[in-house]
Amino acid sequence: MIAHDGMYIGGEWRPAYGTDTFPVVNPADEQVIAHVPAGTAADVDAAVRAARAAFPGWAATAPADRAARIAALRDALAARKDEIAETVTAELGAPLALSRAVHASVPLLVADSYAELAASYPFEEKVGNSTVLAEPVGVVGAITPWNYPLHQIVAKVAPALAAGCTVVLKPAEYTPLTAQLFAEATQEAGLPAGVFNLVTGLGPVAGQALAEHPGVDLVSFTGSTAVGRRIGAVAGGAVKRVALELGGKSANVILPSADLARAVNVGIANVMSNSGQTCSAWTRMLVHTDRYEEAVALAATAVAKYVPGERIGPLVSAEQRQRVRGYIDKGVAEGARLVAGGPEAPLETGFYVAPTVFADVTPEMTIAQEEIFGPVVSIIRYEDEADALRIANGTVYGLAGAVWAADEAEAVAFARRMDTGQVDINGGRFNPLAPFGGYKQSGVGRELGAHGLSEYLQTKSLQF
Ligand code: NAP
Ligand code: MG
Repeated sequence: MIAHDGMYIGGEWRPAYGTDTFPVVNPADEQVIAHVPAGTAADVDAAVRAARAAFPGWAATAPADRAARIAALRDALAARKDEIAETVTAELGAPLALSRAVHASVPLLVADSYAELAASYPFEEKVGNSTVLAEPVGVVGAITPWNYPLHQIVAKVAPALAAGCTVVLKPAEYTPLTAQLFAEATQEAGLPAGVFNLVTGLGPVAGQALAEHPGVDLVSFTGSTAVGRRIGAVAGGAVKRVALELGGKSANVILPSADLARAVNVGIANVMSNSGQTCSAWTRMLVHTDRYEEAVALAATAVAKYVPGERIGPLVSAEQRQRVRGYIDKGVAEGARLVAGGPEAPLETGFYVAPTVFADVTPEMTIAQEEIFGPVVSIIRYEDEADALRIANGTVYGLAGAVWAADEAEAVAFARRMDTGQVDINGGRFNPLAPFGGYKQSGVGRELGAHGLSEYLQTKSLQF
């Protein structure tokens, strides 16, 4: 893998202020594939200055011009699709087929949607005797996680650019190479210098310096609830705008009338994809007591197809593997019934965890309450619809979910009562224009579509 040994600031690759680097490890074979500079507060400061200097010019461009640059960025990413997929596979460990179909592809849809929205969004509207202007918030500090390395970047940078904001990105420690490729693409797309800047580094150093920098007007963070809480506090203290996309513990609610086999199979696929490292994964499967054992048997069969090292990749790091195994041990200790997988490593090399299914999980167990972020599904029994709703809503999270029923209207009626930001009805398809984000402790704010764009705008009212 080719890694830059500097930061992308002001339209060029510049040496870091410090000399520290950190290694990038391939989670499938545990080999170090690159070293990347560990940014400090000085690098963050240089990047924020570059973004501030570029802001007035970029904010003043016509929306159609910004749309054209975003379209060019999309094309630059499309031209490097294979390289992106290989890089995501190398640093995240995702099977190449998944990297191609999801990691390198979904960001193109999202970039496309913002090229269109930048051109069509009503940046000016009449309200009674006022004209309301939607203006960019300013300099955005974007802090992203490793689980969908490019998608998380594009879901922040594309709407920020569409709004007229400039950006400093601090990507996750585990996946900096994809971020460097993205920076190259912004250069190829002809974005003016300083509109997009990249500082690689560690969260508590570079990430914290970015969140705290007085030259940052909005912090957009995706990651854990623990870190999100701190970032929210820092932003609140400085009266900065903040968007937080945090953890989840979503419910897959299979109502008694549903096509059980389909609901279970899609539900298992949803969790196993990306080795369970998806914040919106439906990690709690809720099944009516009359069909419970049938669902457990279907789940055990479905999960057997996810052979580690073939259809399912490793976790991103030894640390994550340890965390997930700890949860599996906890599930066993608290009395859940292991029907597939378990804590033993399925392969000798690589940070693999066996695809795991627990039955007889009760709603208050740790594995039913806390985010595991690994290939682990908990099947929970419910007695009636009221019970299912109480269980579905019974965590601190509310990011996503699914409802299955023979009749769409029945599923929708249940979904309306769920405390969560997204619900897939009978296996609904991904929509890049639908707002994505959390109720309760899953976050503040929304990404994607017009709602995602409005996060980067502030209004000014002119009265006549
Ligand atoms: P994380 O530790 O919270 O890290 C997320 C980002 O924040 C990384 O870039 C990280 O840098 C940085 N960071 C860490 N400490 C920081 C600090 N004190 N100040 C500023 N930035 C800091 O989360 P993760 O372990 O990478 O990702 C897993 C978690 O993210 C899961 O809980 C998952 O649910 C959540 N997640 C949520 C969504 C969503 O859309 N809601 C999407 C993906 C993941 P380092 O990489 O250097 O630590
Ligand atoms: Mg971290």
